[in-house]
Amino acid sequence: MTHVTDLAGWTLVYSGKVRDLYVPTDLMTDDDTWTGDPLKLSPVALVVASDRVSAFDEILEPEIPGKGALLTSLTRWWFDRLPEVPNHLAYAEDDRYRDLPAIPDSVADRAMLCRTLDMFPIECVVRGYLTGSGYREYVATGGIGGLRLPEGLQDGDRLPEPVYTPAWKAPLGQHDENISYERTVELVGETVAEQLRAISLAVFQHASEVAEERGLILADTKFEFGADRELGIVTLADEVLTSDSSRYWDLEAYLAGATPEIRMASFDKQIVRDWLAANWDRSAQAAPPTLPAEIVEQTAERYRALVERLTLGL
Ligand code: ATP
Ligand code: MG
Repeated sequence: MTHVTDLAGWTLVYSGKVRDLYVPTDLMTDDDTWTGDPLKLSPVALVVASDRVSAFDEILEPEIPGKGALLTSLTRWWFDRLPEVPNHLAYAEDDRYRDLPAIPDSVADRAMLCRTLDMFPIECVVRGYLTGSGYREYVATGGIGGLRLPEGLQDGDRLPEPVYTPAWKAPLGQHDENISYERTVELVGETVAEQLRAISLAVFQHASEVAEERGLILADTKFEFGADRELGIVTLADEVLTSDSSRYWDLEAYLAGATPEIRMASFDKQIVRDWLAANWDRSAQAAPPTLPAEIVEQTAERYRALVERLTLGL
């Protein structure tokens, strides 16, 4: 695990592959024997995106400089563009939060103050194009998570319409697993399962249009949702539509390119995945190799380029 920042007034309660979650230290219990979930103790959490990069569910070395700030600014930008979708941002000026410790300057550009939600254990994946693990599963089974797809599709092909292919969110250290929509109904009940699917597809559709206006294809993405503890409503959480949670391709290159590499010239961590696939035998159970400097720099450049293309229209 890479370096986790100490933040005055805040206690680290969860460290994921990319994000660290803190709650106000004042709200923590002094009882050493208490074994509950510390996130339940606080109505807010400081979600801090690190510069860590993960692929195939492994945290890699070294970090990608600036990545946490880029992910955070993109998430905020998209939340602003989705005013009709309830999201987890909390506002420090809200009276309910007036006694919170300040957000330390050292993490201000990569931290979001969020309401703590009861997260649903589902990764809400939407695909407009078929690639990656979805394509591999399609080749093996003719569909994804039990959802059948048309025959004869190639890597990178556009799907007749966007599909919702949820995954079960595995606990840290385990691999997520594609599941059927029916399985999500068993996990969270029909009402919530339907909302997760409907909101995911609607946000994907809207975001695809925004991306296309900027010369980008949103190929696929993953959302996470939780239940708001006060209002009970399904709320969009985590990061949204970033280069970690999504695949973005250059529209012109896609239309012009014959090979998958040219068609899918991407603004995401595909460079890392491709390098790792070529240089690491996953089945041997060894730790992944350290990323070379040029892969780190290229990835940082791709992440920066996406933020510029989307938010500045460059
Ligand atoms: P990944 O989600 O990319 O597979 P991960 O599960 O290791 O990786 P991170 O994304 O690094 O996790 O950490 C963020 C964690 O915080 C996730 O478990 C996510 O579900 C959770 N989370 C995000 N927003 C909230 C929120 N508002 N309230 C409670 N938990 C949240
Ligand atoms: Mg996550």
